[in-house]
Amino acid sequence: MPDFDQPHRRFNPLTGEWVLVFPHRIKRPWHGKTEETDPQKRPSYLPDCYLCPGNKRANGEINPDYRFTYVFNNDFAALLPGQESRQFQEHDFLKAESVDGTCRVLCFSPRHDLTLAEAQRDFTAEQAARRLQTLSDMHFGAEVF
Ligand SMILES: [Zn+2]
Repeated sequence: MPDFDQPHRRFNPLTGEWVLVFPHRIKRPWHGKTEETDPQKRPSYLPDCYLCPGNKRANGEINPDYRFTYVFNNDFAALLPGQESRQFQEHDFLKAESVDGTCRVLCFSPRHDLTLAEAQRDFTAEQAARRLQTLSDMHFGAEVF
């Protein structure tokens, strides 16, 4: 079998379905074990968070000082664009082929401490409209920043 260390899919002959496989995702950073935090004591900003405004991401880029939504290509995306098309088939039970695509990250709020439900509760009309526009742009493939 060829070295499939990039995103690909494998055929499951038992179900007749293709299964996505992302072996490169094991290289993602992990902050380690986390402990439960009292929701009343969660900080609105964390200096070492990869997603907070103005912080350095895992790939070394600096997030802008965003005030609404922020969208960027996932630093450790499951799918990668521009993958070379590869196929492998040893027999009907062992088939694999490359896949490509783009994975985006959507930060729905600059606040580290809010869940989506909590942020939506406090959205102003402008914030809600901007988030809806961002989701719409992402869905229809527009560049979103
Ligand atoms: Zn954060």
